[in-house]
Amino acid sequence: MLVRAIDREVLDLLLEMGRSSAPNEFIVMTGAEKGVITTVYPIAGTTVTSASATIFMDMIPLGMQIAGTAHSHPNGALWPSDADLQTFAETGQCHIIVGDPYEPDSWRCFDREGRERTLEVIG
Ligand SMILES: [Zn+2]
Repeated sequence: MLVRAIDREVLDLLLEMGRSSAPNEFIVMTGAEKGVITTVYPIAGTTVTSASATIFMDMIPLGMQIAGTAHSHPNGALWPSDADLQTFAETGQCHIIVGDPYEPDSWRCFDREGRERTLEVIG
C-alpha cells in the first residue's frame, strides 16, 4: 500500500525527538495503517540494516506496514547523506528527515532512491 500521509501528532513527535536528541541524531522506524503513518518504533543503534528491518517486521502488528525511517539532522540539512541513501534502500518507501530548528516545516520525505516525495499531513 502506498504511504501517502502522516498523522500530525506523529510529525510533531518526530520534531520533538529531534529537538530533544540534539546535538545527537535519532533514528526510528515508522509504521503505517491504511497508508497513513501513525506509529513510531524506536530501534537500537543509529542505522537501519536489513537485519534490523527484518526484526522490526516480525514485531509490527497485523494490519500495520513499515512506512520507512525517520531521523534527524542537527545541522539542519534536509537532504540525505550517502549513508542515509544506503539506509533508505534497505527498507520502506517513505524516509523522513527532520532538522534544526525543528519547526513545523523543518522536514522532508524521500523515497527509497532518495528522491524527495510528497507526504500529506493530516489530523
Ligand atoms: Zn541523515
